[in-house]
Amino acid sequence: LQADIIQRILQKEDSLVLMPTGGGKSICFQLPAIYLPGTALVVSPLIALMKDQVEGLIANGIPAAALNSMMPEEEQQQVKQLCVQGKIKLLYISPERIKMEADWFLPRLDISLIAIDEAHCVSHWGHDFRPEYTQLAILKERFPKVPVVALTATDKITRKDILEQLRLRTPQTFISSFDRPNISLTVRRGLNKKEKIAAIVHFIRGHREQSGIIYCMRRNDTTELADELAMYNIKAIAYHAGLLPAQREQAQNDFIDRVDVVCATVAFGMGIDKSNVRWVVHYSMPGSIENYYQEIGRAGRDGMKSDTLLFYSLSDLIVLRRFAEESGQSEVNLEKLNRMRRYCESDMCRRRVLLSYFGEEADHDCGNCDVCKNPPQRFDGSVLIQKALSAVIRTGEHVGMQMLIDILRASGRAELLERGYDKLKTYGAGRDLSYKEWKEYIYQMIQLGYMEIDYAA
Ligand code: ZN
Repeated sequence: LQADIIQRILQKEDSLVLMPTGGGKSICFQLPAIYLPGTALVVSPLIALMKDQVEGLIANGIPAAALNSMMPEEEQQQVKQLCVQGKIKLLYISPERIKMEADWFLPRLDISLIAIDEAHCVSHWGHDFRPEYTQLAILKERFPKVPVVALTATDKITRKDILEQLRLRTPQTFISSFDRPNISLTVRRGLNKKEKIAAIVHFIRGHREQSGIIYCMRRNDTTELADELAMYNIKAIAYHAGLLPAQREQAQNDFIDRVDVVCATVAFGMGIDKSNVRWVVHYSMPGSIENYYQEIGRAGRDGMKSDTLLFYSLSDLIVLRRFAEESGQSEVNLEKLNRMRRYCESDMCRRRVLLSYFGEEADHDCGNCDVCKNPPQRFDGSVLIQKALSAVIRTGEHVGMQMLIDILRASGRAELLERGYDKLKTYGAGRDLSYKEWKEYIYQMIQLGYMEIDYAA
């Protein structure tokens, strides 16, 4: 699609480009920016990313610069002067500067095109809404003749909203394929911490001398996990936003050259240009499919076979629900989380679920996800459901999953006896199944809507 998008910009028309990270988005505006007379504005929310792109362009002999509020005043003035003199082909600018510069500086430029990167930030429906993005509509008002290209990777509702918010004129939408068939998809659910670590160690040993990233939800998890892995002779570095800039840079460089494994929060990976990452593990579930897709997309950029593994547990879900509720946009974020949960619980080909989320139709199973490799066998589970529901009702609906299974399996542990659950009619009604089997079936009962988790309890 790149040629078509470039052509569209050269015809001075607006477009919306949906392309996954690593899909070659930048070339779509960089090439016409070099070709057309004047200066291209590139709006980008991430200062680190801005810096990388500008350095990359300069290294290739293309005059580019960045303008953001983090720069010293003097440097800002220099950049502005060069722009006004027409000496800069691409100016990377942060969204909050647009409004500040809209009256004086920007009108003095010969603007060739406007590229809005990470355009989902403009929408309340996006997974990363930024208030300063909503001011970008001003661009179309002030520079109606300049072609705008908005770029992102997001779902259908967000797309529609982007077009409206940015007031694009008869825009054409380009959707490139989100399919990355070289990346395998696996989800494992209901493992406790010890089991997760054992599974990760096993996984890493199966990927000897291959680079990979383990994404964690909390900063503490990154250091704890790196220490745990060290006990198994697996060298791993920890990375999170709480480290000093020098420590972060060191960690990134180590990962590029020396250490195969990094345990990191989502802060890791933005500016990392490493094409041979062979695997990505999610120690906890991400809060949205957009985030998940972006993070697994850091594997296999070279197109070679790569593996991903995601751990899903109800305890993570409870924490993520709280984050979503407290996020200030709880409705949107709860729905995003819900879609992520449904992906994890799916018994359909996972790639189909993923692609349909991004509005791409997949008409066949992929053969490279855990569901395709181990298709579920179905049976009539009515009696199991009756047993579980009966036990739940008889406790006054006041049990967690573990206690419920202990009742069904007649575990006889102290807390259970104290609460008198051994007197229930369903005590031991399911002792023919293992703890693990019950856990798996109860997850399915929740997924099918036979019971619900009371998150507020
Ligand atoms: Zn599949």
